[in-house]
Amino acid sequence: MSQHPPAQLEAARLDALRKLDLLDTPPNEAFDRIVRMAAQLFGLPIAAVSLTDVDRQWFKSRVGVDHCAIPREKAPCAHVADTCSMLVIPDLLEEPFYRDSNLAATGVRFYAGAPLMTRDGFCLGAMCVLGTAPREISASERTGLADLAAMVMAQIELQHAMGRVDPVSGVPNRNQFVDDLSDLAIERPDGEARLAALVSLATPEQISSAVRAMGAGFVDDIVCEAARMLRAALGPSCKLYHVAPTQFAFLAEPGTDLARFCDWLAAWVALRADTTTARFVTTATVGVAPFAIGRSDPFELLRDMYSAAHDAIEGSHRVRVFSAEQNAAFMRRFRIANEFGAALEDDSQLRLVFQPKIELATGRCIGAEALLRWRHPVLGEVSPGEFIPVIEQTSLARATTRWVLERALRQLAAWRRAGLVTQLAVNVSAVNLLEPDFCAHVLTRLRAHDLPPEALAIEITESALMSNRTLAAATLEALTAGGVQLAIDDFGTGYSSLAYLQSVPAKVVKIDQSFVRDLDRDERKRALVATMIKLSHDLGQLVVAEGVETATVARFLTGAGCDQVQGYLYARPMAPQQFEEWICAEWTLVRPRSARPSEALAVA
Ligand code: C2E
Ligand code: MG
Ligand code: MG
Repeated sequence: MSQHPPAQLEAARLDALRKLDLLDTPPNEAFDRIVRMAAQLFGLPIAAVSLTDVDRQWFKSRVGVDHCAIPREKAPCAHVADTCSMLVIPDLLEEPFYRDSNLAATGVRFYAGAPLMTRDGFCLGAMCVLGTAPREISASERTGLADLAAMVMAQIELQHAMGRVDPVSGVPNRNQFVDDLSDLAIERPDGEARLAALVSLATPEQISSAVRAMGAGFVDDIVCEAARMLRAALGPSCKLYHVAPTQFAFLAEPGTDLARFCDWLAAWVALRADTTTARFVTTATVGVAPFAIGRSDPFELLRDMYSAAHDAIEGSHRVRVFSAEQNAAFMRRFRIANEFGAALEDDSQLRLVFQPKIELATGRCIGAEALLRWRHPVLGEVSPGEFIPVIEQTSLARATTRWVLERALRQLAAWRRAGLVTQLAVNVSAVNLLEPDFCAHVLTRLRAHDLPPEALAIEITESALMSNRTLAAATLEALTAGGVQLAIDDFGTGYSSLAYLQSVPAKVVKIDQSFVRDLDRDERKRALVATMIKLSHDLGQLVVAEGVETATVARFLTGAGCDQVQGYLYARPMAPQQFEEWICAEWTLVRPRSARPSEALAVA
């Protein structure tokens, strides 16, 4: 009796059923109401919304039956699904095919089922009524059953659409975008190259300001207006998706040229900028990503487009094509920010190294700078030049400086006891100066390690000093009043005004290595450095030159009156043990053997 549909069609039907997410879901009153109506209309004890799965009929809703599924084999509903047409069996015992079916065995005699048809022409199963006595069905009952099946389908589509369409714009949402791309991958398994675009209507800051000033309704209006404009620009053949509250996405027609697509998008952005009601408070940007259908994960494609749209905020071009290199750099920064916290808690990843500071007049080491090192378990050695600027953007800046300070002070206390080093310098981030308890913490830790405040120098880069002048000033004053030495690091790179620098209570100025490095080959740099040294001396500050790599540079600096130097000419930053060996060797050169330190203590 049952004619099976071709396997491919059945696979597509099952796929349509799965996508609706109905199977094995809990009972729902909307369906139960229809089923109750069906039983009442026919005056029958049993009615069900029965969905045809691979090998079972599963009841989304039922009255008069206890079990929620029966085998598909010899189930009349399966026949409805296979034939997409209504089936009426006045008496199951009269039908040779159903006489020995499971259903007949439970005492069912009458069956009528109307197909549950999707818009795409797939039959999901049946809206069925069943009785325990043979029965006929009138024409109006047939129409009634078909109407009830249509009501079930309307309910299914409504519930499905609720999770697929954005309630503000009425445009299909991100779920739909992801599903459609997956469908496309089935239709086009050849990995066709396509272009996708994501339009971001405003930056998160702009949205936040707009909501604060005008309320959420204002943003809804911007979104609806953009949806209208985009639909009009794209035409009916291009499907638009509302993938995030203020972001829309769509695919370009197959074969679209990237440059022309970008030009078209740029023209659209310019048009919107001229016409939108929100033109003064929002900046729309577009991220474009080339991709291969079926080879790219839809979520990754969205992320790529989003990052390109985000990058487009900087610079003058509002349309940006996704760049794998920029993305890799961003991912690395994100990874660094994300994983540095674990490094702070894992003693095997972070360590301090120490670079000697040499007094030019005597050639002696008079202190050292503590520099942080990070060996990431996968990335290997990551330079502080890379990770410090990333950490400074996160809440970890506080914990990082505290970690460094603690290890540096512990090492310094040991080295002072051994008579090796009298002063250590520690680098501090701009944000640390904004911590209300920063100075108190530094002084407390100095006392805890039984160290005098002048044993510690704090280095702050010139640009850090510039970024938070007034707020940082109190911390700087308090540190100096407490006896801690302040040094302006990377001097010459921060465009500070002289008037401001004069007001900073720093005792030491460290000339940046970019001025020092090829001093011997650059007359202008020599003039600059000589002026910096003179100026700092006139202001009563001590001058340290960083990055001294050659004897020629050292000679020039000596001649120019520079006080101290740091650089590879003397020593690279060294692990504590190595530093001790270096300093002991240095003592043998400049001091009598008896004056050598008695014990060395590498603890950092
Ligand atoms: P900085 O404080 O200006 O440190 C000097 C940098 O120059 C160090 O790089 C040092 O290794 C390098 N250097 C020293 N002598 C020479 C030389 O002769 N030639 C060359 N080419 N380089 C030399 P490093 O250790 O990679 O640190 C880079 C920057 O990272 C530091 O610049 C500092 O701003 C920051 N940093 C390092 N450790 C810390 C830390 O514990 N906390 C904070 N907030 N920043 C740190
Ligand atoms: Mg420094
Ligand atoms: Mg420096």
